[in-house]
Amino acid sequence: MPKPFSIPGPDAAAFENLALRADRIGIVTHTRPDGDAIGSCLALKRYLEARLGASGKCRILLDTDAPDAVRFLFSPADCRETLVFERDAAAVREWTAGCGLFVFLDLNNLSRTGGMEDLFRASGAPRILVDHHLHPERSEFGLAFSETEVSSTCELLYHILRTFPSCAGKDLPEGCPEPLLTGITTDTNNFANSVFEGTLETVAALLQAGADRDRILEHIYNEYPERRIRLMGHLLDRELTISDKGVACMILDGETARAYGIREGETEGFVNIPLSIDRVRLSLFLKQSGDEYRVSIRSKRGWSARNLAARYFSGGGHEQASGGRIPLGGDLQTKDDVAAFVARCTDEFLKDEA
Ligand code: 5GP
Ligand code: MN
Repeated sequence: MPKPFSIPGPDAAAFENLALRADRIGIVTHTRPDGDAIGSCLALKRYLEARLGASGKCRILLDTDAPDAVRFLFSPADCRETLVFERDAAAVREWTAGCGLFVFLDLNNLSRTGGMEDLFRASGAPRILVDHHLHPERSEFGLAFSETEVSSTCELLYHILRTFPSCAGKDLPEGCPEPLLTGITTDTNNFANSVFEGTLETVAALLQAGADRDRILEHIYNEYPERRIRLMGHLLDRELTISDKGVACMILDGETARAYGIREGETEGFVNIPLSIDRVRLSLFLKQSGDEYRVSIRSKRGWSARNLAARYFSGGGHEQASGGRIPLGGDLQTKDDVAAFVARCTDEFLKDEA
């Protein structure tokens, strides 16, 4: 069966050589990491440790902490060797200053690393990219593995690891299949979107290699705190608006989030729900975070969530799943102001796209 892409052997060998030469490696992903971001970081770290003698040489560098739903993936050693910039900027600074290699996973642009961006720009260490978003900024990276016909960074990373000379004739190391399958599962919304032929082949191989899908599903989808479902009910009942053009919008302000005790990552997936309504073409979920609203967008085929995010919300992402932000200030003070702004933007967008 033809694969939509293949990993060039010399590129995989170059990746391996850089990792072998570096005394310190920084494994980096985007701010507010999701399952794909965390899964790919952990799988890479474990591969480098198990097969390239990198034990103690790797740190996962996060701008903001991993969501609770994927905590089950971390071993005690992974926890110790993960540095979180928002909690301990000094430790991240110290590690990046002496770093001999950075690997960036699940981002197409250094600005997605949030507060850490300047540290990478200040370092002279080589940068490798592994990503599945459109329009990567290739010039920022010495070596870039970028494929969009793939479910997730985890799926792409699987193929890179398999192409490493050190993997020839061997299975993946023990700790790799589970985080990889977790990332594929979350980025496809449990195999509802972005599933390619190759994705299912990769998953079959990961299951064969020992990944326990039931355990993953149990942790990701069946261990939510009750408050998440109560808030979901509240938002669907009270906050969901659907325009006659088929734009669904739900807005969660800071006060409501606090009242429900909602933590980072606990509204994951909310944006998908209104998209299941027949007349909805675009679904937006907005969540206040300090002095801005973060925007999540999902679209049905034929409508570009990515263009909407890029044009109005300083963001981007994939064709059918994107995100961005709306800073508060000026005319935008209240939740109602933000709702009116979103209505204006989406109206204009749909007119132009029609
Ligand atoms: P989510 O709605 O799950 O937060 O994000 C959906 C997709 O949009 C993800 O693939 C993510 O990479 C992308 N995305 C989210 N926020 C931003 C952003 O601020 N900038 C860019 N370029 N992409 C984003
Ligand atoms: Mn991803």
